[in-house]
Amino acid sequence: MGATFLLVINFAIGLAFAITFLALAWRSGVALSRWCAAGFLSASATVTAEALSPVIPSVRVTSTLSFSMLMLALTLISAGLMRHYRPGAHIGWLFAIALAASLFNTVVLVDQPRGYPLNAFGYQAPFALMTAIGAGAILMLSPRRPVDLVLATVLALSAVQFLAKAAIAVATKTGPGVKIYLSSDYAFYSQTAGGILSLLLGIALIGLVAVEVMAAASRRMRHDDLSGTLTRGAFLEAASERLARAPGGMPMALIMCDLDHFKQINDGFGHAAGDAVISAFAGNLIALAGEEGVCGRIGGEEFCVLLPDCGAAAAHIYVDAIRGLNAMTAVPLLPDQHRVTASFGIAITGRDEPVEAAMRRADLALYAAKSAGRDRWQMAPQVAEMPLGTAGLGLAG
Ligand code: GH3
Ligand code: MG
Ligand code: MG
Repeated sequence: MGATFLLVINFAIGLAFAITFLALAWRSGVALSRWCAAGFLSASATVTAEALSPVIPSVRVTSTLSFSMLMLALTLISAGLMRHYRPGAHIGWLFAIALAASLFNTVVLVDQPRGYPLNAFGYQAPFALMTAIGAGAILMLSPRRPVDLVLATVLALSAVQFLAKAAIAVATKTGPGVKIYLSSDYAFYSQTAGGILSLLLGIALIGLVAVEVMAAASRRMRHDDLSGTLTRGAFLEAASERLARAPGGMPMALIMCDLDHFKQINDGFGHAAGDAVISAFAGNLIALAGEEGVCGRIGGEEFCVLLPDCGAAAAHIYVDAIRGLNAMTAVPLLPDQHRVTASFGIAITGRDEPVEAAMRRADLALYAAKSAGRDRWQMAPQVAEMPLGTAGLGLAG
């Protein structure tokens, strides 16, 4: 009776998670949700097969159904995790393991005496392996977030639980698939442990999907759609953090950029052409800033770039490269030969200057570049107390 009650509970848990993950798959766009929905649906089918065992005459049929459904459930979840944590990883071999284990169970294990190591471990070890593979896929990742560690722990606990079940089956001389299964103590403990762990697994997986959804939303909020650069607030945050992390004495270039006579583009060729110019110019800034550079859109057609470990000479090379690339970039919606120029103000800064102060210096230099005729760069005067060597090298270009 106890085990039957737990079967009903476990069926409900599996189904509730399947429905929850289906809803998440539909709303969140996180592909892992689809794998989990299918996995928990398959887990509910396992429970159904176990509940029906007293009325199905063939042990081979019930054992095949409950084994393959649970194997499929765990494989779907591990495959989803593999794809989630290591996009592009092959997952076909997981299903090959599941198929081989299911065939081995149906053809060989069902005929083995219950409660002996071959039957007990042969039945549970594939489940333990599959959950351990899921945990391994997470643990190979670095850096790991708390949510990843929680999920890996639950999966590792599940693997241990499957092996413990095999040990209990041997010790009590019962095991899965027996006719008296539902009335055995083994079934009671097995269903209790399975229920608790599937609850923990479902909650940990929902936690992971929630973290991914929030991360995607924050990425969207931090990035400007049109230019692909950071928004102003996100730029200030990222640049401050990058400056604070810089070793003392390491120069950083902070470059303010503003498109020249941009209003004329809007007026002459339309707002959509203006948008295309912003997008093309920002694309060039990002492409040349490299992995370490931080690019942000500060206002309409005004951008700021922070280049770590970059003194005056390297900053001039960057700006001249941007100007060169700009001169070669044909912008859609503009006449073929039409090129847009920009002006730049460069401040060399370091850990000891707040990013806002460096931006003010760069902005004054930008203003000077505009006043001097546009399509050029201007260096901001160096802050006297900052030991950044050749920071002011070449005042204009
Ligand atoms: P200057 O050479 O002195 O920088 O002159 P400018 O015309 O580039 O500068 P101004 O500040 O007079 O004009 C900037 C224009 O940018 C005004 C605004 O309508 C336009 N703008 C701001 N944001 C966007 C946008 O997202 N898309 C488009 N197409 N235009 C924008
Ligand atoms: Mg402008
Ligand atoms: Mg402007």
